[in-house]
Amino acid sequence: MLFPALHTTPDAPALRFGDRALTYGALARTAGALAHRIRAGAGDPPRVAVWATPSLETAVATVAALLAGVPAVPINPKIGERELAHIVTDSAPALVLAEPGAVLPSGLASVTRVDVTLDEQADPPADEPDEQAPAFVVYTSGTTGAPKGVVLPRRAVVSTLDALEEAWQWTGDDVLVHGLPLFHVHGLILGILGPLRRGGSVRHVGRFSSAAVARELTDGATMMFGVPTMYHRIANDVAGDPQLAAAFAGARLLVSGSAALPVHDHDRITAATGQRVVERYGMTETLMNTSVRADGERRPGTVGLPLRGVELRLVDDHGTPIETLDGETVGEIEVRGPNLFTEYLNRPDATAEAFHDGWFRTGDMAVRDPDGYVRIVGRKATDLIKSGGYRIGAGEIENALLEHPGVAEVAVTGEPDPDLGERIVAWIVPNSAPPSAEELGDHVARLLTPHKRPRVVRYLDALPRNDMGKVMKRALDG
Ligand code: ATP
Ligand code: MG
Repeated sequence: MLFPALHTTPDAPALRFGDRALTYGALARTAGALAHRIRAGAGDPPRVAVWATPSLETAVATVAALLAGVPAVPINPKIGERELAHIVTDSAPALVLAEPGAVLPSGLASVTRVDVTLDEQADPPADEPDEQAPAFVVYTSGTTGAPKGVVLPRRAVVSTLDALEEAWQWTGDDVLVHGLPLFHVHGLILGILGPLRRGGSVRHVGRFSSAAVARELTDGATMMFGVPTMYHRIANDVAGDPQLAAAFAGARLLVSGSAALPVHDHDRITAATGQRVVERYGMTETLMNTSVRADGERRPGTVGLPLRGVELRLVDDHGTPIETLDGETVGEIEVRGPNLFTEYLNRPDATAEAFHDGWFRTGDMAVRDPDGYVRIVGRKATDLIKSGGYRIGAGEIENALLEHPGVAEVAVTGEPDPDLGERIVAWIVPNSAPPSAEELGDHVARLLTPHKRPRVVRYLDALPRNDMGKVMKRALDG
C-alpha cells in the first residue's frame, strides 16, 4: 500500500495549500471518488494527464490516479503549444484532470476533461496494482534536448521514498514546506508523495519567498525542499535579517536538489543560520540516487553517498569502471537499482542507448572523495570542457567565480578554439560594476589552477533558466 496513513490516521493533517486543507480521511474519500471516475474513463493503454497547477486539486488528482492504478502524466500549466502537442501525441491520455475553472489550451481539446472537485466522496478502490505497474509518465526538464517521457513504475516511487526515509530520518511527525512546481519529480513525487507516504503533512506556500517559508518554519514546519535558485535567494535574504535567519536556523532539514547548489550560497546560509543544507542528486529517470544523510557530514559541493538499494559507479570514456576514490578522477555516473525507470515512452532506441551493461548512464560527470562522497562536476554534454589537453568541469570554475564579489550569477561553457580545442567561456551576471575579464581570469587562476582560467567573459542581465531554475546552457550562444 502506497499511503497507509489514508486508513490509519484519518484525522491527521495531510495537505494544505494556502487556506485550504485536507486530512488523510478527507483525502482518502475525495481521491477515492475521483479514482473510480479515472478507472471508468482511462482508455487503453490507461493514462491520464494532470494539469499540474500548484494546487490542492493537483495533489488530489495524483493520489487518485495512483489509487486507480492509472499512470499519471503531469503537465506544466505554462507549457508552450509545441511541447504540449508532443506530450499529448506521445502519451495519448484519455482524460485530463484539472482544477475547476482552469483554462486549458486548445492543444488539450481532444482529451476529455475531468474536473477535480473536492466535494465528491467515496471509498478508494480496494485493490492496488502490483509494484511493476507504471505509476507515472514524467517528461524530463528538456535541459539538454527535447523532453522525453519517462515511465516510472510504482516500485521506483516506493523504493526512493523509503530510502529517503532512512537517509533523512524522515517521519510522520515531519511537516514539509513546499514552494516548487508540481509537474516534476522533485515537487510532485518527493514533495507531495513523500510526506503522504510517511503520514506527515505538506504545506504549499504557492509562490516561493524566503518570508513565506520562514513563516511556516516558525509555525511548526520541520523541513524544506528547494532548488538552488531558492537557496540563492535565501542566502541573500538571511544575510541582513537576524529574525529571518533564526527561522531557518530552527528547521530540522533543508534539502536542495535538481541542480548543483553553489558552495558560495551553501556557505553564506551556514554563516547566517548555522544550518548546513543537505544536498541530494536525482533525475527523472532514476528518482533519487545519492544524498547527504541527516546524520552524516554535510560537505558543501557534494551530493553525499548512494541511497539504500542504489548501486553507483563512475566509468571512463571507454566505459571502464574507475576504482580510485581520489577526489580528482572524473568519470560518468552510472547507476543500477530499484529506483530506475522502465523505459522512455515510445523511444526504444533512446532507452537502449541509455543503458550500458545493465547500468543506466546518467550523462552526469563526477569525482568521488576518499570516503565515497560524490561530487558532481557537471553534465557530459554541456559542462565538461576539453581544453589544452585537460578535462575541466564547469562547476568548479562556476563556484570559484561566485566567490568574486562582483559576480551575482555565472555559467561556464566551452567553445571551439583552434589552439586549445575548446576555450573556457564565463557568462556573468554582474553585481553592479562588472569586473573585467582579466580580473576574473586572475581570480580563477589564483583559486584553482592557471589552465582553468576563463579566456572569454560575456556579460548578461540574466541567465536563461527553465522553470526549475536550471541554467539552459544550450541557449547560451556566442
Ligand atoms: P533533460 O534530460 O531533458 O535534458 P534534465 O536532465 O534537466 O533535462 P531532470 O531529470 O529534471 O531533467 O534533471 C536531472 C538532472 O539534474 C541530473 O541529470 C543532473 O544533471 C541535475 N541534478 C539534479 N540534482 C543535482 C545536484 N544536486 N547537483 C547537480 N546536478 C543535479
Ligand atoms: Mg536528463
